Amino acid sequence: MKIIPRDQHCISRKNISDGALKVMSRLRGSGHQAYLVGGAVRDLLLGGHPKDFDIATDATPETVHALFRNSRIIGRRFRIVHVRFGREIIEVTTFRGHHDNDAEPTSEFGGNHSRQSASGLLLRDNVYGTLEEDAARRDLTVNALYYDAGTFEVFDHVHGLADLERRSICIIGEPAARFTEDPVRMLRVLRFAAKLQFSIELHTARAIPACAHLLAEIPSARLFDEFLKLFLAGYAAATLDQLISHDLLRYLFPESNEQMRRNPTALALVRAAMVSTDQRIALDKPVTPAFILAALLWPQVQHEAQLLQERGDPPIPAMHSAAQDAIAAAARHIAIPRRFSQPMREIWEFQLRLQNRRGRKAAELVDHRRFRAAYDFLLLREQAGEDTGDLGSWWTDFQQLPMEQRLEQAALEQGPQGGRRSRGRRTRKKA
Ligand code: ATP
Ligand code: MG
Repeated sequence: MKIIPRDQHCISRKNISDGALKVMSRLRGSGHQAYLVGGAVRDLLLGGHPKDFDIATDATPETVHALFRNSRIIGRRFRIVHVRFGREIIEVTTFRGHHDNDAEPTSEFGGNHSRQSASGLLLRDNVYGTLEEDAARRDLTVNALYYDAGTFEVFDHVHGLADLERRSICIIGEPAARFTEDPVRMLRVLRFAAKLQFSIELHTARAIPACAHLLAEIPSARLFDEFLKLFLAGYAAATLDQLISHDLLRYLFPESNEQMRRNPTALALVRAAMVSTDQRIALDKPVTPAFILAALLWPQVQHEAQLLQERGDPPIPAMHSAAQDAIAAAARHIAIPRRFSQPMREIWEFQLRLQNRRGRKAAELVDHRRFRAAYDFLLLREQAGEDTGDLGSWWTDFQQLPMEQRLEQAALEQGPQGGRRSRGRRTRKKA
């Protein structure tokens, strides 16, 4: 074990939230150990600003809960305590120990504290241990550094600091064993490699292909949570590249993955959606998972809607059933909540409505609450190389007109599908 004294690292208490400092100091005051751990230590050492502060302690969840009125115990797979300070939540975890699969059930707690499935998946992990054991149970070496806010020392049990310096994502322990215990760790490896722009250590990377299939066992709700972390944290495009190059995207979105492999326009659309999401996050603009999901599933929806139309369905019902099917198929792997699947459907169906540039309906479309997202989506489709007959620039100009002029212009447009741009027609007539 390595202890790094205060003058040999750059962590300063002033970059740590008051809430986190308070929790650690009260735990220490009651005779417990308490350390800042995980992403916060990693990001502080890299000179960044952590988005949240996690604390590890030798106090049990019950003890922590008893010490803080503003706290509650949550979780089943991992029992942790949330301590709330206004809008900030400090997550306190008790040191995890080695779990022994054959351990005798202890009657006091009604059974084993840790549980594994037949394939070795860790279902529960509530065996408590020491700091050293806790470090070994974490996922990556760079996520297993501990900061003691009392002595200002950093504790490094797994060469985390060396890996931070060489910018390497390395799983702790034997990679295949750790991925088997929890296959989501493979997604975490790729996510942190993308986020930190680190490379992936060789043995860690090599174990991924052999363990990848285990991701199929992960409940769809947990995969959705992980999906949010992968794509809504500001580095979605880099994460997508990692998922594609390590061939893990198929476990999140098998159908989209197929489409993207076959069709460069599909890949370009998804990538453009990711880039645009990253840019919005960088500018502090709001983002919604619905938009990224709409892009991921669009190639499929479009393909199926076309097949249905070739069989004689009118465009709107065809789009409707295609949307229904794509969402149902995706939901088998990733649990998309209704509050996102509904706007996805609306974005897709809006793509048909945007084709209609004629009449009052077109003029009013601009004021629809889904117009903005649907219009942005249309631009992405064009950017990805889809031929929409230059619809995007028509709507770009049109939406800037006041209602009165929109009505006039929409009245000039011809045909139910809008036909060509009026300016284009005039030039042709003159010729
Ligand atoms: P960020 O919050 O910036 O995304 P983080 O490293 O804090 O990064 P969290 O998901 O908040 O990531 O997890 C906190 C810590 O818990 C991690 O740093 C890691 O030490 C540990 N951890 C999280 N998930 C796992 C896992 N699946 N297996 C082992 N350890 C994990
Ligand atoms: Mg965190």
